[in-house]
Amino acid sequence: MPSATAPLLSVVIPVYNESAGLHTLFNRVVPILQGITADWEIICVNDGSRDDTLTQLKACRHIEPRIKILSLSRNFGKEAALTAGLHHAHGRAVIPMDADLQDPPELIPEMVRQWQAGYKVVLATRRSRQGDGWFKRGSAWLYYKLMGSLLTIDLPQNTGDFRLMDQQVVAVLRLLPERTRFMKGLFAWVGFSTTRLFFDREARAVGTAKQSLRALWTLAKDGIFSFTTLPLRLTTYLGVIISTVAFAYAGWLLLRTVIQGVDVPGYASLMAAILCMGGIQLISLGIIGEYLGRIYREAKQRPLYVIEESAGI
Ligand code: UDP
Ligand code: MG
Repeated sequence: MPSATAPLLSVVIPVYNESAGLHTLFNRVVPILQGITADWEIICVNDGSRDDTLTQLKACRHIEPRIKILSLSRNFGKEAALTAGLHHAHGRAVIPMDADLQDPPELIPEMVRQWQAGYKVVLATRRSRQGDGWFKRGSAWLYYKLMGSLLTIDLPQNTGDFRLMDQQVVAVLRLLPERTRFMKGLFAWVGFSTTRLFFDREARAVGTAKQSLRALWTLAKDGIFSFTTLPLRLTTYLGVIISTVAFAYAGWLLLRTVIQGVDVPGYASLMAAILCMGGIQLISLGIIGEYLGRIYREAKQRPLYVIEESAGI
């Protein structure tokens, strides 16, 4: 919990196989923080890296003890790593950031100014995504549009995890117990007075993207299924519409049989109806399954991450 010794700024960085870029990262971030205050900490969460990230982090910490390390026992994924960092960040303002310098640290002084002016949350919104390919740009655009129309919370467009949050906001985030961590959604859920800054998203400084397409797909699904029950309601509506049509059609068939006698042909329409209904039923089951799976995961109450070792925390 925040205390009198709490630093002014905590920067939280999840790192996974980023050893090649760590020095570039600190060389750019540390002078910027130093320019604002001497009272800062950087919490690096090593998310079970397979390369020598942890050794590199320790070497950096040796030179600069305000770099603190939290090392997870295996790869838990970015959302869990970020959560671990937020749980241990006690700064009066907390800034989550990616290790690949796609989020420009040069924005931090302005974030701090806005925070000191009274905002509890300062968002950093991407004006452009030069660093990302057309597929990622297109899918991100479509996703934010879809989420905007599905969710009751206001998910800011083109805004990742890079932001500044007051300790009050972080304290609320720590209280949220859910296992399914869609951080962008949780950030938006907590609310608080918010302002935003704009920046151009650069390409990765070194290395390749660490989040697989599969991880991003899971994240996209999490965003929808853990923040809205609309898909469940849609299946009900679809069921009502189809039943109405089916009843009307059945009535008409009955009437025709009574008036015109038995009429056997109709294989095509029968097949079409069976296949169509089967498909819709399977999709509905799948949707229920998504929610059931989430309830199952929550009910198990497993910890979100396991810390193997830490330094400075
Ligand atoms: N990351 C992590 N665990 C993972 C994958 C990624 O902690 O399993 C970190 C990674 O080191 C980086 C951040 O999350 O600091 C964002 O990763 P990446 O650049 O791959 O994501 P993208 O920019 O594609 O969203
Ligand atoms: Mg990146």
